[in-house]
Amino acid sequence: MDKKRSPKYLVIKRQICPECEGSGITIHPAWSLYWKEIDVNTGLRMTEQETALWFREHGEDRIPPEEVECPECGGNGWIEEHVDIREVLREIAWTP
Ligand SMILES: [Zn+2]
Repeated sequence: MDKKRSPKYLVIKRQICPECEGSGITIHPAWSLYWKEIDVNTGLRMTEQETALWFREHGEDRIPPEEVECPECGGNGWIEEHVDIREVLREIAWTP
């Protein structure tokens, strides 16, 4: 059978998402920057207006939620990919 038409046997490989480590949630990137630039004590003393201003200056129309759905896994906490079954058998060192 020609190689192009021969069937492919794929296995779903599911792994814990490396970005959120399985929680499905990450810190909004603007908030990560905020806590990097602003000292915690200062940050906690800032009024909501001052905080909103900081976010406006950093490209956010309003204060975003601090935690957001992980963009890497869509909030699932895991990532799936299709892998050729022969690759899987090699990986687990299975022999018939
Ligand atoms: Zn994730």
